[in-house]
Amino acid sequence: MNDITMLIGGQRRAATGGATFERKNPLDGQVATRAPAATPEDAVAAVEAAAAAFPAWSALGPGERRALLLKAAHALEARAADFQKVVPAETGASAMWAGFNVHLAAGILTEAAALTTQVGGEVIPSDVPGSLALGVRQAAGVVVGIAPWNAPIILGVRAIATPLACGNTVVFKGSELCPATHGLIIDAIEEAGLPPGVVNFVTNAPADAGAVVEAMVAHPAVRRVNFTGSTKVGRIIAQTCAKYLKPTVLELGGKAPFVVLDDADIDAAVSGAIFGSFANSGQICMSTERIVVDASIADEFVTKLAERARALPLGDPRQGPVVLGSVVDMSTVQRCNALIDDALAKGARLVIGGKADNTLMPATLLDHVTPDMHIYREESFAPVKAIVRVKGEEEAIACANDNEFGLSSAVFTKDTARGWRVARRIEAGICHVNGPTVHDEAQMPFGGVKDSGWGRFGGKAGIEAFTELRWITLQTTPRHYPF
Ligand code: NAD
Repeated sequence: MNDITMLIGGQRRAATGGATFERKNPLDGQVATRAPAATPEDAVAAVEAAAAAFPAWSALGPGERRALLLKAAHALEARAADFQKVVPAETGASAMWAGFNVHLAAGILTEAAALTTQVGGEVIPSDVPGSLALGVRQAAGVVVGIAPWNAPIILGVRAIATPLACGNTVVFKGSELCPATHGLIIDAIEEAGLPPGVVNFVTNAPADAGAVVEAMVAHPAVRRVNFTGSTKVGRIIAQTCAKYLKPTVLELGGKAPFVVLDDADIDAAVSGAIFGSFANSGQICMSTERIVVDASIADEFVTKLAERARALPLGDPRQGPVVLGSVVDMSTVQRCNALIDDALAKGARLVIGGKADNTLMPATLLDHVTPDMHIYREESFAPVKAIVRVKGEEEAIACANDNEFGLSSAVFTKDTARGWRVARRIEAGICHVNGPTVHDEAQMPFGGVKDSGWGRFGGKAGIEAFTELRWITLQTTPRHYPF
C-alpha cells in the first residue's frame, strides 16, 4: 500500500487534523493508497506557499528554469518502473499505458523547458511621438492545476509544466482516484530541486473537492485555474471561477467521431479505429466514441474491425501485459451495461463483446446505432463503441457534428484534399486526416470546442493561457500635453 503526503512550501505534510482517505484497487478492492484529506485551510496554505515563492521564481532567468524542468523530465523517466506498479494498483490501467504516460509526460516537461525562452512580446507602433510601446508577456501568479486519473501522468504534468515554464508557481490538486500516481510526479519535481513553494501538492477526500477547490479559487493570489476532467465538474469550476473572476483553461469530455468515407483505405482505417477506440480501455478524452462509416463499405469495415478487436488481450494488468486492463470502477460497468441494453432494445446489433459483471470489460462494438440511442450522444468512457452507418459525405459530416462535445475527431479517405475539406467542417478542436483520434504532442494546440471546454495547453497557445499580456510604454522624449 502507498502512504503519501502533501507538499506545501517544501514541507511534506499530512492534512490538518490528520484525516486521510483511501483509494482501492477496482478489481479486488484492496487498499492501493492512503492519502491526506486536505481541509480548505490546507489548500489556502498551499496557495500562500506558492504566492511566497512567486517573486523569486518568476524573476529567475529562463536558462535556470529550463535546466530545472529538464531535470524534472529525467527524474520522471527514472521513475517509470514505480509508475508501472502504482498506475495498475490505483486505476486498473495497464503497465503499457503507464509507460506511455511517463514517456509523453517527460516530453511535456522537455517542451516546457524549451518554452522558457519563448515568453516574449512585441514592439507596437505608437502614435505618441517618442513613445516606445511594448506588448509584454509575463508570469500571471499562482496557477491552480486540477487533473483526473485517466491519463494520470500526462495530465498531471500538463497541469503544471507550461505554467512553471512561464514563471508561475503552482498548486497541483491530485485526483482522489490516483493520489499516489500524482504523488510520484511531485517526487520527481522535488528531486529535480525546484525551490520550495514553486510546486505544491494537495490531495482531498472526494466529498471535500468542492470546498477545497473554492478555497483556492477565492484566494486573491490565484490568477489562473486549469482543469481537466468531466464536463459536469468543468461547469462547476467555470461557475466558481466566474464568481471570483479567475480565467480558466477547461479541458473536458469528448465523444470523438471517427469518419470513414467511401474511398478510405479500409485496413488503415481499421488500425486507426482499433487504437483510438481501445487504448486504455477507451478511457481517454480523445477516445474514438462514434465510428461514422459510409454504408457502402460498412460491412467490410465492421467485419475487419471486429476481428482485430476480438484479438485484444484483456486481463488483470498486475499479472502481465494486456491491452485492455480494468476500467476505473464499477459505475463505469453499470453505465455501459445500461447503454448496451438501451441500444439493443432500440435495434442496434451487438457485433462483439457485451455487458460485463466486473471491471474487466471486453471490447464491445454496437452496429446500426441511431440518434435515439443514448450511446449515440453520451460519453461511454470505456471500451464500448457505437458504429453509425451513413450515406455520403454530407451525412457523415452532419453526424460528426450532431453532438454537444467537440474535442478530437478523425476522417479517413484516400483523397487528402477531400480529407482537408471535411476536417475544416468538423466542429472539434482537433481533427486528424488518416490518423487516430487519440494523438497528443506537447507542442500542439490541444483543446476543444462546444461542451469539451475552452483554452489550449500546448506550445505557444499554452504561453498565452498562462501569462498576462501587459502594455508597457517608455516615453523617450518630452511628452506633449494639451493643458
Ligand atoms: P471528474 O470531473 O469527475 O473529476 C476531475 C476532478 O474534479 C477531480 O480532481 C475532482 O476532485 C474534481 N472535482 C470533483 N467535484 C468537484 C467539485 N464539486 N468542485 C471542484 N472540483 C471537483 O473527471 P474524471 O471522471 O476524473 O475524469 C474523466 C473525465 O475527464 C471524462 O469526461 C474525460 O473525457 C475528461 N477528460 C478530458 C481531457 C481533456 O483534455 N479534454 C483529458 C482527460 C479526461
